[in-house]
Amino acid sequence: MKLGRTFPTVRRALERSGRLADARYVERATMSAERTGSLGEVDPSSVPYFSVAVLPSRIDTPGTPDAPDASASGRPGEVVVVGLGPAGPLWLTPEARGELAAAEDLVGYTTYLDRVPVRPGQRRHPSDNKVEAERAEFALDLARRGRRVAVVSSGDPGVFAMATAVLEAASEEPYRDVPVRVLPGMTAAHAAAARAGAPLGHDYAVVSLSDRLKPWEVIAERLRAAAAADLVLALYNPGSRSRVWQVGKARELLLEHRAPDTPVVLGRDIGGPEESVRIIRLADLDPADVDMRTILLIGSSQTRTARRGDGTEIVWTPRRYPEG
Ligand code: SAH
Repeated sequence: MKLGRTFPTVRRALERSGRLADARYVERATMSAERTGSLGEVDPSSVPYFSVAVLPSRIDTPGTPDAPDASASGRPGEVVVVGLGPAGPLWLTPEARGELAAAEDLVGYTTYLDRVPVRPGQRRHPSDNKVEAERAEFALDLARRGRRVAVVSSGDPGVFAMATAVLEAASEEPYRDVPVRVLPGMTAAHAAAARAGAPLGHDYAVVSLSDRLKPWEVIAERLRAAAAADLVLALYNPGSRSRVWQVGKARELLLEHRAPDTPVVLGRDIGGPEESVRIIRLADLDPADVDMRTILLIGSSQTRTARRGDGTEIVWTPRRYPEG
């Protein structure tokens, strides 16, 4: 609120509505004589024209009523499955940002929800990483009651993430009539590839090394087939504290078809504060180097590396394939 001569009136209004203690005062912002503080403590006779009052909305104050269920107003609810990108605000699409702002309820794994700015009036439902089906049904139940729900994943929500769990539940009663939309996001493989150059520039396959939801033999078979077909590989979920041997096994399988010095991009926490990108040889791939925040890009027989004038190493896979 703009102040100046209106200061005493604004102060009275804040006092009457019980919000004076929350109101902030800003004077000559960014100028050398800038003054900020609690509005209640400002001397009314000292208030110049260059001043404003800022009153934040209540956030999570006990006793604040929740937004009423939209079903009461007849507006249908909806589930929007949103990907946040691999890390940071730059890789969140404007479309996803808009849906996150418009949502009444946010549902997702705690670590991902923590990446979404808190908005007054929005309800947040953080959960553990393992209960995807329950989380999906929970979101659909909210939407059935008329709520506008965003289900949050990292990266792209359709790549080893929540979109499938939501669609699986939504394909059955009682959720078949609940509107569901999936918004695209940037996936970790693309962010990591861009950091290293263009290793995914030619045909590639995407495989999750996690054997929590599929048997290892299926994974091994896919790795063999992709390696035999000379596809570049993007390997998600290469390992974690409890899954430590998969990378070693994958390396052995791939070495049956690929040269030991095949370039491998080891991308960790891409876009995040601990980002690291290393280019190594397939034969040197060490399971100790991977964790839950790591993605591996394994080159094909055509993938090349080069050192540029500034000393950086780049990797790319040419689009032209040599004729048989
Ligand atoms: N839906 C996500 C993938 C979820 S599976 C996406 O599209 O990116 C989780 C795996 O993604 C991690 O084990 C890791 O392999 C990869 N990953 C996600 N974010 C990453 C990041 N910032 N840097 C490197 N790998 C990442």
